[in-house]
Amino acid sequence: MTNLQAKQASKSGAMPGGAHASVTGDVDSNFSDLHPAYSTLQAMAESNRCLYCYDAPCVTACPTSIDIPSFIRKISTGNPDGAAKTILSANIMGGTCARACPTEVLCEQACVRNVSEDVAVEIGSLQRFAVDHLMARDELPHPFKRAAATGKQIAVVGAGPAGLSCAHRAAMLGHDVTVFEAKAKPGGLNEYGLAAYKMTHDFAQREVEFLLGIGGIRIEYGKALGRDITLGALRDGYDAVFVGVGLGSSNNLGLPGEAFDGVDDAISFIEQLRQTEPKSDMPVGHNVIVIGGGNTAIDAAVQAKRLGADEVTLVYRRGAEHMSATEFEQELAKINGVIVRYWAKPVAIKANGKLIGMEFEKTELRDGKLVGTGETFDIRADQILKAIGQKIKTDDLAGMEISGGKIVVDDKYQTTAPGIFAGGDCIKSGEDLTVQSVEDGKQAAIAIDAFLKSA
Ligand SMILES: Cc1cc2nc3c(=O)[nH]c(=O)nc-3n(C[C@H](O)[C@H](O)[C@H](O)COP(=O)(O)OP(=O)(O)OC[C@H]3O[C@@H](n4cnc5c(N)ncnc54)[C@H](O)[C@@H]3O)c2cc1C
Repeated sequence: MTNLQAKQASKSGAMPGGAHASVTGDVDSNFSDLHPAYSTLQAMAESNRCLYCYDAPCVTACPTSIDIPSFIRKISTGNPDGAAKTILSANIMGGTCARACPTEVLCEQACVRNVSEDVAVEIGSLQRFAVDHLMARDELPHPFKRAAATGKQIAVVGAGPAGLSCAHRAAMLGHDVTVFEAKAKPGGLNEYGLAAYKMTHDFAQREVEFLLGIGGIRIEYGKALGRDITLGALRDGYDAVFVGVGLGSSNNLGLPGEAFDGVDDAISFIEQLRQTEPKSDMPVGHNVIVIGGGNTAIDAAVQAKRLGADEVTLVYRRGAEHMSATEFEQELAKINGVIVRYWAKPVAIKANGKLIGMEFEKTELRDGKLVGTGETFDIRADQILKAIGQKIKTDDLAGMEISGGKIVVDDKYQTTAPGIFAGGDCIKSGEDLTVQSVEDGKQAAIAIDAFLKSA
């Protein structure tokens, strides 16, 4: 049994079904929770599997260093709100991370139960149980208090995980924060990018509301850096600036016909899907091709299939072992009925008045270099989704060094422009994971606090 099958079987109490087990004829039910929430009984039972290791490798494996044994112990003693406070003190977006983290390559991979029983403690599900429990208790005050007011003003650009985590920690440290967000809603990719079956029931918005409960944070929507505001003006008007704009621009294939109706980037497709309710109102092609080998490609392919596409083919130019999508995500695609074709690259978009498909050339490695073999094949399609990476939009990043399409920062998240810090997907060392962006934002706020105290 694979990791994914074991996880699904243990969560549903059933053996995994056939290849199309997760896709039903009812589109809206295809977007219900990928991993349903634990009951109290399940949480108590699972928490008792934790060995509370002395040197807990799961803590080291978590980018935000959540004290996992301690929060699990609190669940096992009937104190889920205390468990949530432990989680949120390290990671204020512990609710999203519990749903979206690839735990199988982070905390759960490090769990010693993998050795003794072949199955890790389900840390992600326990984390979700605790955070959801606390967030449902509206009568409780925000779990963290602000330090005495410093009188310092911080500008944050971007209300994604990095920006909001920075804002929350800076507010905790006593600073006043104004967040400038280009879009109409906060949350960044939590709201517009994560797969709909991971982020159900408007969770991204509820989490932001909860985070703002600390006070001292104001968000200005529809304010884009480079269009409505400039870095220079922010630097003049505020004591420090944090840039957390993510990666706003998708890469193109560089083929004629990319502007054709039906050819889109996967991020826009997912964004539209996330904002469509009910999901059954979202249009999808009959035959969909997704190009790419990362989690975005997998998410687009699985969601296209769950929307009711007859055939979804994911095409990747290298082998399965080279894909940046985790093994879990790759298996998710397969059990949702996505056809995966390796070792092929797109060479032409085909249309006869309307989109009809794509031509591919087979590829291979020759002396370590990826080359086309000359052998081609066609796949028919009325929708093509490109998921071949993103890059930073460079409007108004003047004064900051950019390398490899990302902002260069030092180990204190300071850019090359004095007083301007950055974190999340837009920085050079960015891991492109929600949890890493939350950690970047938190650490940047601590660095900004030290910078302001030393000024
Ligand atoms: C399709 C997809 C699926 C993913 N799935 C997962 C997953 O399952 N698990 C996981 O851990 N990670 C996942 N990730 C990665 C994760 O979403 C990102 O690492 C994380 O959201 C990055 O946070 P951020 O704050 O740096 O950027 P973002 O989330 O992109 O937020 C940036 C914010 O800045 C705003 N902004 C942009 N430009 C400007 C401007 N000029 N002025 C003002 N505001 C601006 C944006 O509107 C946005 O609100 C996924 C990513 C994608 C694309």
